[in-house]
Amino acid sequence: MNFNFTDIGKYLLHILLPKTCLHCLKDLPWESDRALCSVCESALEPLPELHCARCGLPLKYGGATCYDCRGQKSAGAALDLARSAFIFNSELRSLIHAFKYSRMESLAVPLSEAMADTFDRFTELKDYKFVLAVPLHPSKKKERGFNQSELLAGKLAAAKHLFLLENTAARALNTKPQVSLSKEERAGNMKGAFKITRPELVKGRDILLVDDVATTLSTLEELAGELKKHGAKRVAALTLAREP
Ligand SMILES: [Zn+2]
Ligand SMILES: [Zn+2]
Repeated sequence: MNFNFTDIGKYLLHILLPKTCLHCLKDLPWESDRALCSVCESALEPLPELHCARCGLPLKYGGATCYDCRGQKSAGAALDLARSAFIFNSELRSLIHAFKYSRMESLAVPLSEAMADTFDRFTELKDYKFVLAVPLHPSKKKERGFNQSELLAGKLAAAKHLFLLENTAARALNTKPQVSLSKEERAGNMKGAFKITRPELVKGRDILLVDDVATTLSTLEELAGELKKHGAKRVAALTLAREP
């Protein structure tokens, strides 16, 4: 076996601190740079080909749009389009949880690579050149140390040569966590949650929102509405995960 010094270093580090798969906790091969083992990594599910043309919801039985997007519910929607890299399954949940709460910022690289691939995959996103991360409330950002969406947005913009809109929107309200609420309560919870701090950067532009997980889309819809009030032409969203 031919070792170089970096390999020897990695091997020794593995003996001292074995790396384990973030999801199943099995030991990873010593030379692995991955966060998941190969079994868990292959369990990540890209957004299926059959999905709603507007909101990106996976559609088991095909069709152009989902039930909500066909009906009146989305008639006045501000969000024009939503796409995601993956379905929110348990393997992806482990990755996102480690990224958000265990401060594994190193995960920003592979996760934003997946976002960049997804941007290429869905050519309907190609005209959205202005990237905006969904802002966190300052107190949440302080608590967490960083905004995971900002990290993803920055790396996506760099990889795809898009313009990153920084300090353009802010969280005006520290809302309750959406997971603690019913589907109906979520839209109300987000009302007035955002303010646009630099409207001159928004006017007349096609803006791509970036977030980690999309569930009911009420957060993205609220921010899209605020952007449109300030003259944004079109607003789309790209998220890492889609919770069906
Ligand atoms: Zn695993
Ligand atoms: Zn839909």
